[in-house]
Amino acid sequence: MPIFNFDNSYLQLSDKFYRKVKPNPAPHPELLLLNNDLMKNLDLDISDENQLLKILSGNELEDGSQPIAQAYAGHQFGHFTMLGDGRAILLGEHLTESNRRFDIQLKGAGQTPFSRRGDGKAAVKPMLREFLMSEAMHYLGVPTSRSLAVIKTGEPVYRETIMEGAVLTRLMSSHIRVGTFEFARYFGGVEELRELMNYTINRHFPELNDAQNPALALLEKGMGLQMDLIVNWMRIGFIHGVMNTDNTSIPGETFDYGPCAFIGIYHPETVFSSIDRDGRYAFGNQPNIIKWNLSRWAETLLPLINSDEKKAIELATEKINSFDEVFTQKWWEMMFAKLGISNPKMGDDDLVNELLRLLELHQKDYTNTFTYLRTPEIFDKNQFFLDEKFDAWTQKWKSRIKLENGGTNSAFELMKKQNPVFIPRNFHVEKALDEAEKSDFSFLNSFLDLLKTPYEFRPEMKEFLHSPEEYDSNYMTFCGT
Ligand code: AMP
Ligand code: MG
Repeated sequence: MPIFNFDNSYLQLSDKFYRKVKPNPAPHPELLLLNNDLMKNLDLDISDENQLLKILSGNELEDGSQPIAQAYAGHQFGHFTMLGDGRAILLGEHLTESNRRFDIQLKGAGQTPFSRRGDGKAAVKPMLREFLMSEAMHYLGVPTSRSLAVIKTGEPVYRETIMEGAVLTRLMSSHIRVGTFEFARYFGGVEELRELMNYTINRHFPELNDAQNPALALLEKGMGLQMDLIVNWMRIGFIHGVMNTDNTSIPGETFDYGPCAFIGIYHPETVFSSIDRDGRYAFGNQPNIIKWNLSRWAETLLPLINSDEKKAIELATEKINSFDEVFTQKWWEMMFAKLGISNPKMGDDDLVNELLRLLELHQKDYTNTFTYLRTPEIFDKNQFFLDEKFDAWTQKWKSRIKLENGGTNSAFELMKKQNPVFIPRNFHVEKALDEAEKSDFSFLNSFLDLLKTPYEFRPEMKEFLHSPEEYDSNYMTFCGT
């Protein structure tokens, strides 16, 4: 019985868009993590572990699999460059019984023509990290790539130290990114660009085929998805860390989990990534950056928006200029909902602004503050505000939510859906990965289990509410190359 039901629609594109490749065999594959729930959800047969090991390590190809490395370009930290899958190989697109289509990609399965000087390989720890973070994001209700499995290859990878190699099986609704459009526009011609647009529309947004101006409609659709995504990140305190245009997915999924992290203490300038020295991808700068990335995307679409370049620029600019107003509205709606407000009134924005100011001033935890407002009893008293201004703010907020339709109870219901109790805090992430690297998976597995219900408080898991003090201020993340 094959595991996957492969199709390879990407190969319909002209061959500029990919190179045919073969995964590098893994000498001693060993299953470290398997996502049973997801496998079942995708109608995948997991009864034969041997077969799983062979396929997910890249040691064997299943019938119907035509592996490729995809071509793409991108702006990295603002600089344009040619990229492409250098350490990822697309095995094919799995079709579920209900005809849902997902890219199945092996990350770390060896070199491709796009590897440049890299070895195409990945180490165990960053692949476990991606598994943990992407699954956490999924259960937090944020669109994301998913992780099917991590397999140790039995081969060393050489970084600053010698590490154990691993392959992650990544699943996405597709890997089409802003960078794919940049590749088509700047390394191809208008025909390739049109091909990519039509493919994207047919695969993800077939309803746009009837649009009067499909390219403009696609831009608008993609903008909406990105705005929703970033608002979601801001809601849960997620910092992506490397929002290059090649890491911005057109169907609006979070992906590339190299240097990402969650904020503890609220501060918009928070950065954890060791290479983001100027704070380009800081927590509070994510809305600006996504607008910048969408502008780069809009530029690639110009020839398809209108054959008259001036007219095309005018139309695209108008769309991009609508970003601020639409995004701001979505952001406010989200922040109000975090406070239990579903029918905003005059003055509610002051309530939000004032709270954020207090958090910043008193260096308080973003996630825990919203949990505290609804369920203060789960925290020890001295862990929270002992401040008159905060007390005054709380009184104001309490009287405000009484005015909601359904009063305080319905406000609390809304807050429960908006505010996670448990997030993957940096300290626990590192502890889980360090122990797993030493072959003890018990902490990682119970952490993964906790993160499946992040909106439910579990008293026996209280330790996951806090990191040791000062831990985050010295914390640094790295791109998992
Ligand atoms: P990323 O930081 O994952 O967005 O990767 C940026 C670019 O570097 C992409 O083209 C990757 O395929 C490539 N890359 C990253 N790590 C490696 C590696 N170990 N070997 C080859 N290419 C890599
Ligand atoms: Mg990337």
